[in-house]
Order: sequence, then C-alpha cells, then structure tokens
Amino acid sequence: MKDALKIFKRYLPPYKSKITLNIIFNFFGAIFGVFSFVTLIPVLEILFGTQEKVYGVKDIDFSIFPLNIPKDDIIHNIYCYITQLMDTQGSARALVYLGIFFIVLVLFKTGLTFLASFFIVAIRNGVVRDIRNQIYIKIISLPIGFFSEERKGDIISRMTGDVQEIEHSIMNSLEMFFKNPIIILVSLIAMIAMSWQLTLFVFILFPVAGLIIGRIGKSLKRRSMAGQIKMGEILSTVEESISGLRIIKAFNAEKIMQARSRKENEEYRNIMNRLMRRHFLAHPVSEFLGTVLIVSVMWYGGSLILKNESNLSPADFMAYLVIFYSIINPVKAFSSALYSIQKGLASSQRVDKILHATSNIIVKDNPKRISGFTASVQYKNVSFRYNQEYVLKNINLTLEKGKTIAIVGQSGSGKSTLVDLLPRFYDVESGSISIDGIDIRDLRLDELRNLMGIVNQEPILFNDTFYNNIAFGLDHVSEKDVESAAKVANAHEFIINTEFGYHSNIGDRGGKLSGGQRQRISIARAVLKNPPILILDEATSALDTESERLVQDALAKLMKNRTSIVIAHRLSTIVHADEICVMQNGEIIERGKHDELLTIKGEYKKYYDLQYT
Ligand code: ADP
Ligand code: MG
Repeated sequence: MKDALKIFKRYLPPYKSKITLNIIFNFFGAIFGVFSFVTLIPVLEILFGTQEKVYGVKDIDFSIFPLNIPKDDIIHNIYCYITQLMDTQGSARALVYLGIFFIVLVLFKTGLTFLASFFIVAIRNGVVRDIRNQIYIKIISLPIGFFSEERKGDIISRMTGDVQEIEHSIMNSLEMFFKNPIIILVSLIAMIAMSWQLTLFVFILFPVAGLIIGRIGKSLKRRSMAGQIKMGEILSTVEESISGLRIIKAFNAEKIMQARSRKENEEYRNIMNRLMRRHFLAHPVSEFLGTVLIVSVMWYGGSLILKNESNLSPADFMAYLVIFYSIINPVKAFSSALYSIQKGLASSQRVDKILHATSNIIVKDNPKRISGFTASVQYKNVSFRYNQEYVLKNINLTLEKGKTIAIVGQSGSGKSTLVDLLPRFYDVESGSISIDGIDIRDLRLDELRNLMGIVNQEPILFNDTFYNNIAFGLDHVSEKDVESAAKVANAHEFIINTEFGYHSNIGDRGGKLSGGQRQRISIARAVLKNPPILILDEATSALDTESERLVQDALAKLMKNRTSIVIAHRLSTIVHADEICVMQNGEIIERGKHDELLTIKGEYKKYYDLQYT
C-alpha cells in the first residue's frame, strides 16, 4: 500500500485534473449504482404485497439541504407517488415504471463509469509515455562509457519489458485504486444508513475472509516470480542456441543442448503447475468464503428481523444483501491490485537504476565559452584506463592549427581511446587535454563537440533519407549545402541515381548501401558540419581498394585547410602527415615525419615493409 502510494505520488502529479474528474465520475457512478439497488425495495414490497399505502405529498424544505438531508420526507413522497401509480394504473404497471426507472439509473451509472475510465485511460497511457520519455532522455544524456556491450541488452530489456510490466501491473491497478474504494465507501455508507448493526457484523467478518484469501495471493506472487526467472533462462537458452547453432552442430552438441533445454522446460512446467493450481484454488476459495459471508449475514440479519430488533423490513434486507454482494468483488479486486502493484515494483526499481544513474562526465557550473579554434590542441601527460589496466600512459601530443597528426599502431594499442578523450566521450584519469590553452573540462560540452567532426571505421547512419543523414544534427541547412557537401564527399553521383535522390531512404543503418557509399555519406556529413578539427578513426580500413580510392579522395578534400588527427591502418594515407605517432600498449614509442621514422628503422619501418614489400 505504501509502495503503491509512493509510485502514484511520483508519476501522477501532472494528471491532477484528470484524476479529479475520474474521482468525481466514479463517485456519482457509485451513487447511481447504490440507488439503482435501492429501487429494488419498492419492487419487492409490491411483489410481497407489503407495500403500505401512503398519501399526502409533503412539502420538502430543501433550504437546509446539505447539512441535514430531509431523508424521511423524501422517502415518504416517493412512496406517495408509488401509491398513486398503483391506485391509478395497477400494481403491474407500477412495476413497469419502476423497472424503467431502474434502467435509467443503471444507464447513468454505467455512463458515468465509462467517463471515469475515459480519463483513467489518458492517465495510464500518459504515465507510460512519460516513463519511456524519461528513460530515453536519460540514455541519450549518459556518457558512452555507461554502455558496455553486455549492458545494452539489459537496458533495452528495461526500456521494453520492465516498462511494459509497470504498465500492466501498476497502471492496470490504477483504475481499481481510484474506483473501488469509492464504490466500497459509498456502498458502506448506504449499508450503515440501512442498518448499522448488520454493517458492524460485516466489518468483523470481512478481515477474517481477507486474511485467508490474502495468504493464497502471497504464495502466488512468490511462485510467479520463480516462473518469470525460469522463463528468462529458457529464453536465453533459445537465444544462445540459435546464435551458436553453427558451433553446436560442428561439435555434435545437439544432444547436450537438448537435455539442457528439456530440463529447463520441465522445471518451468513444475513451477507453472503449482502456480496455476494455486491460482485456480484462489477463485473457488474466495467464492466459497463470499458465500459463507453472505449466509452469515443472512442468518444474522434474518434473526434481527425475526426478533423484531431492527427496523429493517424483509424487502430492505434483500436490497441490503444485494448491495453487500456488490462490494465483495470490488474488495477482492482491490486486494489483488495491491499484489499486482508489488509485482510491478520490481520493474519500477530496475527502471530507476537507469533514471538515477549519474554521469561521470561533469560540466562545471560556469563553463568557459569557446566559439572557434585558433591555436592548438594539447595532450599533457594524459593517462587513462577503462578498468584496472592503463590503456593510455603519459601521452604528450601537440596538434597545431592546420596540421595533421597521424597515429598508427597495432589493434588494441589505444588509438581510438586517445581520440575518444578529445570530445570527452571519456575523461582523462590524470593529465589534461586543452584546446587553445583551455582545459576541455572547463568548456561547455556542446561547444567543445561543435569544434570537431568525427569519421569512424564503421560509419554510423540512421534509418532515414540521404538528406537527413547528411544534415544530421544541424538546423538551417539548405538543399544546396547538402548537395555540395555530397559532391565534395564523392557521394552526389550515386545519391542522385537512387529512386528519390536525396530523399531516398537508406535503410536500417544504411543497409541498402555498400561500405564505401556509407563512408562517403558520413564524410559528407563531416564536410557539411565544417568543423575546424577533424578526427578520422580508420575511416578507410573497412573498404576494398576500389571504393577506398573514392573515399580517400573525399577525405583528402575534407582535410584540406583543416586540423586533423588521423588514425590509419594503411600507411599510404598518412605519408604526408606533419607528425606520425606510433603507439604500442598505450604509449607513443616513435614519432616524427615519414622519412625520419623510416631512417630510425623501428616499428614504423616494420609496418612499412609489411605493406610495401
Ligand atoms: P585501438 O583503437 O588502437 O585498436 P582501443 O583504443 O580501441 O585500441 O582499445 C585499447 C584497449 O582498451 C584495448 O585493450 C581494449 O580492449 C580496451 N578497451 C577499448 N574500449 C573499451 C571499453 N569500452 N571498455 C573497456 N576496455 C576497452
Ligand atoms: Mg580503434
């Protein structure tokens, strides 16, 4: 209960007006519901022939209305009208009129209940939308380091599965939560008004029944949790088996995998057998207890009437029983809503883990402003590690405006990490990186990143048109700008040959394009952004020789008049660089111009010989 309130307090405030409307409609719906049952009283009395004839319509003084409801006078007048009806039209006709009256009341009740649900739906879907929006905003704002490979799947499962679980278990309960207490309350007031002794008796019995039903519910929850965990295991076995089918077959491991899967299935069956039997037990038990409750009330009420200890007539008593019966279901639903919320809470906590994650890329309160790049980028004694081991050790590097630095080295030597530090995808562990003498940690993130354009080995494209992929992240670009950027990147030709030219969709991650074409799109994007500093991380490594030439040519045009850091696998790309750094195990072991490095006959010479002899 407390948990449920906490969740509501967190997500519902934006929907105050809708909640108010919902409560109002529910309230009046409940009142019409109770009154519809009360019309049963005169119907029964007419049938039993116990209807007293009452004459003389009284004037009702409504001036005191909200303070003191003139209940007796109203009832008196109603009976007067019924008596008139019976005298002039006959009892049968009177029944028809009462029936119509009953139908009208029920129509109002159901109509109002629908209106209440109408607003609940808006709240429910709104809250789910809000949660998804919050997670997305958070994910986009978290630093790259937050998302390791194994975490991506987990985060996606939180964003889909857990949000869905919140929707199903918590939001489904929302209606119960606002509707049923109102129905129960209104009905109880009516019951107390009809007979307080009987209602007191009910109050004693209810908790006893509730306790028994509650016990079953609790074990249901435990078992359903175990079932979900087991289901997760089954799913991951299936997933693993399909993606590893090649290995399973090659190693003749089908039998072993079959046995594993069969065992998991068997365990799941056992859990579900017990769970569902419990589940089906809950229903008869609660039905049985409900009946015992009704019979007890019937016995107690009956004895009150027989002993004439209550001013309840048999017809009143029947209506009382109907009202009482009508709150048993809301009470049951309300208690099961509480369980359901418990189930959703686990998911809510998982989602919170993301929402409350903190970014370790911190921007100062009063960041310095920078609008352009004038002098140099400097790495000073930079060290960095992802985990235990240092990936970069004491790197010193100066990149002056207009120059090109090339970085070569074996895979895993830390080249990508080195350039990832510049846009602050990660922060240095010690040392500093500065642009024009300002530590990049003192700058605004957006302004820092505005200074650079990045082209990676694996071009990152979105499922959108050529135009939008090239103009990505930029406002106010003209069609002409995009086109001339594409021309510089040698992409114009193949783009206009597609069906809709610049407005053709490139498919998921550019799936409809060749590697070279994708790369030229991402170069066009960098050209259009026109950043002063350029980072090329093995931009041509994934390409065949033919498309490499086109891309190489595009890159040469892109780098013209710019300051660049180029990581390259093929040395042909970098022979003209102003400085070439050779990295090994996170250190720069050789540096200098191409010719100088060849003469010292070190690592660089070895790479060179490998590629050219
Ligand atoms: P290169 O680009 O030269 O191939 P990287 O900079 O990508 O090298 O990687 C340097 C080292 O850091 C490697 O040992 C790699 O395993 C490790 N590494 C790279 N990225 C991560 C990461 N996100 N988390 C942990 N370790 C990483
Ligand atoms: Mg790399």
